Amino acid sequence: MFSISLESCEVNEFQEVATHFVESINIFLQDLDAHISSPIEVLELKVLEGVRALCRQLLEMIVSKVASEQVSGSVICPECEQECRPWCKRERGITTLCGVIRMCGVIRIERWVYRCALGHNHAPWDLCQKLRGQYTHRVAEVMCRLVARLDFREASEELSSHGIEVSHTTLHQKVREWSQGLRVPEQVDTQRLEENQRWYVSCDGCHTNSREGWKEVKVGCIYKDYPQQGFGSIASARTSSMRYVASRNDATHFGKELFSLATHSGIYQEDIDTQEIVFIGDGAAWIWNLAAEYFPNAVEIVDVMHAASHLYNVAKVAFEETQTQMIEDWVEMTKPYLYAGNITEVVARIRDLATQNSETSETLEREARYFEKHAKRMRYQEFREKGYQIGSGVIESACKHVVAQRCKQASMRWDKPGINAVLEWRCLDKNKAWNRYWYPDTKAA
Ligand SMILES: [Zn+2]
Repeated sequence: MFSISLESCEVNEFQEVATHFVESINIFLQDLDAHISSPIEVLELKVLEGVRALCRQLLEMIVSKVASEQVSGSVICPECEQECRPWCKRERGITTLCGVIRMCGVIRIERWVYRCALGHNHAPWDLCQKLRGQYTHRVAEVMCRLVARLDFREASEELSSHGIEVSHTTLHQKVREWSQGLRVPEQVDTQRLEENQRWYVSCDGCHTNSREGWKEVKVGCIYKDYPQQGFGSIASARTSSMRYVASRNDATHFGKELFSLATHSGIYQEDIDTQEIVFIGDGAAWIWNLAAEYFPNAVEIVDVMHAASHLYNVAKVAFEETQTQMIEDWVEMTKPYLYAGNITEVVARIRDLATQNSETSETLEREARYFEKHAKRMRYQEFREKGYQIGSGVIESACKHVVAQRCKQASMRWDKPGINAVLEWRCLDKNKAWNRYWYPDTKAA
């Protein structure tokens, strides 16, 4: 019923390849002929497998034809810089995207191996192919993309359904190896502030499990936003400009990464004098040290919910646990002063409690000093009037979807290089910088 002939094809250089390919197409079509009245689910798989098998065969034939030819001109040994001569043809396998479920996408090709006088072997063809070990660049990209989004076992199963057989341990090793030298902050595109917009920088820590217990992953984000009207916001400007960095590195190293992300995203690139930068964090000392070092002109804001939670800490210390109503009442009475940015009054109310109970006075004094220390960062009324965001919901959400969703699942134990590698790929993906990194020459990137 189905068949095609080569007569209508205009093929010159690949005459031999084309003849073979047409034969294969006809065998495939004959096979399909026998299943023509099968249900669609049977045909679906037959067609998919058949076409992929043809793809794999065509790729193998074309690549073999080119690879098996000798290199024109001289080949210099990269190890000793002496001239290499053609030595022998050797076969190798390359994992490609031309597989499908139950059918592997590995092609086998022959190419010339060259040898120098000192006996170093080189395959010049391999060096021009951007291969990542046995994988094509595209296969490597898919491996990294799946690992950025799924756990290693899920990623391995998903690859298997594309005819790419990689164990979860190999996957782990490869994506870690390929993340070397990948600097996510440098891959992001540069953005400009639009009229009325401000830059926001925010960071926070969240904990992931390791063999040595819980370890802090630091997360930072950069985004642009318009002044808030009341408590609302134009979320789309924020979402589309959002860029992330996350790692288990120490504060010094992380600070450099965040600053690099900020500058590559557009902060400090132009109109420095007119750029308004708002830095939001909780009370952690490393966060404010980082803000002072890298964003000295930023408006600093302590997350209002974080500050409010300290009021609860105070009340729980000052009153008996059973006096829940007194705890509630004191917090409710004090909150308006906090929201008004009247930190002097908040501190006075805490010290007032401290004088009533000498046992708890030390803890309460510490809380009082927390508010005193951050008073400048708690001018909430003023901040709200100017339309600044005063909550750290954005970075808390980032901790969840950048880190926790991928790295905080049951029985996950991370070592530092492992989690850093996964987070690098994950941030590259979330930062809309994936194609820019993997396919820098294509227009879509
Ligand atoms: Zn050599």
